[in-house]
Amino acid sequence: MNAINWSDWRIPDGKALDLSRLPTLPKASSETDKLQWPARMTVLAEELNRLQAMLYASKTRGLLLVLQGMDTSGKDGCIRTVFAHISPLGVRAEAFGVPQALEQRHDFLWRIHGKTPALGEMVIFNRSHYEDVLVPVVKGQIKHAECEKRWHHIRHFESLLSDSGIAIVKCYLHISKDEQKKRLQARLDDPLKHWKVQASDFEDRRHWRAYMHAYAQAIQATSSDTSPWFVVPADSKAYRDLMVAELLVHTLQSMTLCMPRPTLDVRDFKMK
Ligand code: AMP
Ligand code: MG
Repeated sequence: MNAINWSDWRIPDGKALDLSRLPTLPKASSETDKLQWPARMTVLAEELNRLQAMLYASKTRGLLLVLQGMDTSGKDGCIRTVFAHISPLGVRAEAFGVPQALEQRHDFLWRIHGKTPALGEMVIFNRSHYEDVLVPVVKGQIKHAECEKRWHHIRHFESLLSDSGIAIVKCYLHISKDEQKKRLQARLDDPLKHWKVQASDFEDRRHWRAYMHAYAQAIQATSSDTSPWFVVPADSKAYRDLMVAELLVHTLQSMTLCMPRPTLDVRDFKMK
């Protein structure tokens, strides 16, 4: 199988970005490759489990995975699949909705900071502080100058996390407008999915181009060596999950984690 090359999808620091030019499907994958994806996912899931256990035991580093994307891009599904085989110990998923009254009276990072990972933890953000440089921009509630200030605050905030031992991986799950149409229709057709349907899904869809522009600007302004953005082709659910898993495994491997030294000499203990 051709290896999934996650580095193809990394957005370089400050480079102009046009999301409409980036694919929502992986570059031509052969049918043989596709057949091998489930086996690769199993290998990655095992490796992720092993590395996460080491992260939890050593408590020297933390990991933050930020998932962003339009409605139905697969943030929930990706979390369900990629983390299916990991012990819930030391793993946490946080979802961010429309800010509540108290949150609105604080700076936009206030509600985020308390949810970031401690050393030893792996945290997944299902939406994040990036909503604050997307929704208000598209709705015309903030001007460009205010948005630039927020990008600046985000860069410093993420730099603080990185300096504190937290590795950050940010994924924009890139779906096409046509794929979203199919997935929204599937939600409307399935009574078990009605709870997920919100009026804002349809309202946001009407502003697709404005969202693509706001995303592109935010991504290019905040991708850095220590806090990179990846634009993940997400029209294929299997490929999306595989790529996120590859990225996480790579990030954890590059931490060169090791198990903590034993606090006692195990040779002193004999089972009777
Ligand atoms: P969902 O994740 O689909 O359950 O929906 C959450 C909704 O909350 C989405 O429509 C988001 O755009 C919205 N949301 C999340 N964070 C913010 C924010 N900071 N400002 C405005 N809307 C937000
Ligand atoms: Mg939604």
